[in-house]
Amino acid sequence: MQGPDDPDATAVFAAVERRPSRPLPPLPPLRSGGRHAAAAGGTQTFTRPPEFVRPPVPSTRAVPPAPPVPASRPVPAAVPSPPLVAVPPPPPTHCRCGAEPIGTCEECSLPVCAEHSTLWRGWRVCDRDLAEGRERSRRAAEEEERRVTAAAAAAKAEAERLRNTPLDLTPEQALELLYVQDPRTEQEVRSAVHVLRRVPSARFTKLCRAVLPHVSRRTRNRGFFRRSGWAFAGEHYHDRSWFLSRGGTWYRSGSYGESGAEQGYSGRKVRLDDTEKRAIIYDMAWQQERNGFLP
Ligand SMILES: [Zn+2]
Ligand SMILES: [Zn+2]
Repeated sequence: MQGPDDPDATAVFAAVERRPSRPLPPLPPLRSGGRHAAAAGGTQTFTRPPEFVRPPVPSTRAVPPAPPVPASRPVPAAVPSPPLVAVPPPPPTHCRCGAEPIGTCEECSLPVCAEHSTLWRGWRVCDRDLAEGRERSRRAAEEEERRVTAAAAAAKAEAERLRNTPLDLTPEQALELLYVQDPRTEQEVRSAVHVLRRVPSARFTKLCRAVLPHVSRRTRNRGFFRRSGWAFAGEHYHDRSWFLSRGGTWYRSGSYGESGAEQGYSGRKVRLDDTEKRAIIYDMAWQQERNGFLP
């Protein structure tokens, strides 16, 4: 029985391993067994046991041996596998909590149970989409509020700018603006006040007598004095009203609201000084403001 202790075989392999870069010469055919075979009778053929059949030594070190394949690595199939396609999982048949669905969400089309869905304006919507929708509408409302606030701030700034920009009015235009009870802008009223304040009181009477006949009907009273002229009166005058006669005489009455000046009731005669004139302008402007300014 031949084994690894066979001195001849060991010598051959030792020689091979000492010269690894050189091609291994083919082993001589071991016919008829050499001296062992001869010793055994010469007819027995010698066969190398399988443990001595070594793989051929590579002829050069330039080609490194292939790394050992780990046992766990899958062996590639001979037939190339088709490219990986994401196969969608089958659509769920139950609500995500596992309960029997009572419908499908109109948003995400998933089956939903009663606990995890709500009827929203007749549509069944899952709780997640409902929360998302609420969050969206909350953000939209906030955005709208910001927009409205910004627009209001811009409008206010513009109104403030107009308010503080006096119009270039003549005293005649200013008096008509204040006296005639038509809708006015705050800018018009403030500009008119600004212009009329600079008109001296003596000239103010002349101005009224020149302008009022063209912009207002005269008031005629049917009372004892039969005066005719123009009333400076209104609901929002401060418990006083004035009456300017056609002849240029000022009267003041002290009643509130419907003072009577509207019907020609004139009260007592007053001299129009700067204080009186300022009060008339102030009350005309106040009446216009109480009527409401145009935007
Ligand atoms: Zn949904
Ligand atoms: Zn559920």
